[in-house]
Amino acid sequence: MGSPGLAVSPWGCASRLPGGIRCQFAVSPYQLAQETPADVDDEYQWKGPFYFIQGADPQVGMMKAWKCGNPKDGDDEWGEEMKLTEQAVQAINKLNPKPKFFVLCGDLIHGMPGSQWRKNQEQDLKNVLKNTDQDVPLVFVCGNHDIGNTPTKETIDGYSKSWGDDYFSFWVGGVFFLVLNSQLFFDSSQCPDLKQAQDVWLDEQLAVAKEQKCKHIIVFQHIPPFLRNPDEEHSYFNLKKPVRQEIMEKLHKAGAISGMKGSESIGNIHNAIIKDFANEMNPENRQLSGTQTGIKAVFTGHYHRNAGGSYKGLEVVVSSAIGCQLGEDTHGLRVVVVTEEKLLHRYYSLNELNSQGIEKELLDLIAKQK
Ligand SMILES: [Zn+2]
Repeated sequence: MGSPGLAVSPWGCASRLPGGIRCQFAVSPYQLAQETPADVDDEYQWKGPFYFIQGADPQVGMMKAWKCGNPKDGDDEWGEEMKLTEQAVQAINKLNPKPKFFVLCGDLIHGMPGSQWRKNQEQDLKNVLKNTDQDVPLVFVCGNHDIGNTPTKETIDGYSKSWGDDYFSFWVGGVFFLVLNSQLFFDSSQCPDLKQAQDVWLDEQLAVAKEQKCKHIIVFQHIPPFLRNPDEEHSYFNLKKPVRQEIMEKLHKAGAISGMKGSESIGNIHNAIIKDFANEMNPENRQLSGTQTGIKAVFTGHYHRNAGGSYKGLEVVVSSAIGCQLGEDTHGLRVVVVTEEKLLHRYYSLNELNSQGIEKELLDLIAKQK
């Protein structure tokens, strides 16, 4: 189709912020958004509730690879994933009101850098994704299959050429969003300088977020810091304990924002107010929606199952895959509603989202927008 509109935060480009920060538009091959919208500064301001869609791991090629018991080279067919991703795009295009964006939290394709089907997988995925409603920008996050378990400058450059920057930030309606390259946390042995650059950048970004008095901070990365418990053992599916600790603490400390009265005291409340929609619909829980602000959450994928937990009030949300499932969950997408006081999120199966859309109670929260 070649129409413009795939990709990208048409909102507050971080390069406009103080500190000479590297430009952060995740430019897709379909859009060269050279011009910053006139109202970009507006996105620093809270304007009312909104929502976005999070997906993870279309991982084009994985289903065949697993079926034939050859995870490494068996990814020579990907019709299943194409159908599922099409279903995801169709479901998103039907939504009304439209989501502010659709973020794909990594493992876009299964073929690792250098593998033979990679190029075709990428092209086919793009051909499906470009049918996403032009008013719904796509935000891409890199996963281990996108840049390799042990990334190098070359693999990261390859990803950036194809999908955009490996880390960047953007603003939507007073909320600060950070996209991180979690492979630099997982194994930076072949690119230590790139890891350091992201660390320095992240510190700068969190300082900017504080200065601009953002309402909430929301992080997207592929590998979850942890799956359920901050103290759980390290495995393929989470980050090593010291790295995990460092990043969680960094984000936690970035909490003294937007009138929060000390992030320590708010911690327990956070646990309660960021929670699954199912709990929220229990009227007894509604009283928890007070005036506290400054919620932080990390949305991830990689696990191919739903999971999550919290660290000092900082919520880690692990979403299952659009593509191959490794547990009992359905192929799906997560709807995330951002209100002034809280985040509400719920994982929908692709079938449910396609046939019924978002349920009324969540839509009512968004409709409160003035
Ligand atoms: Zn992964």
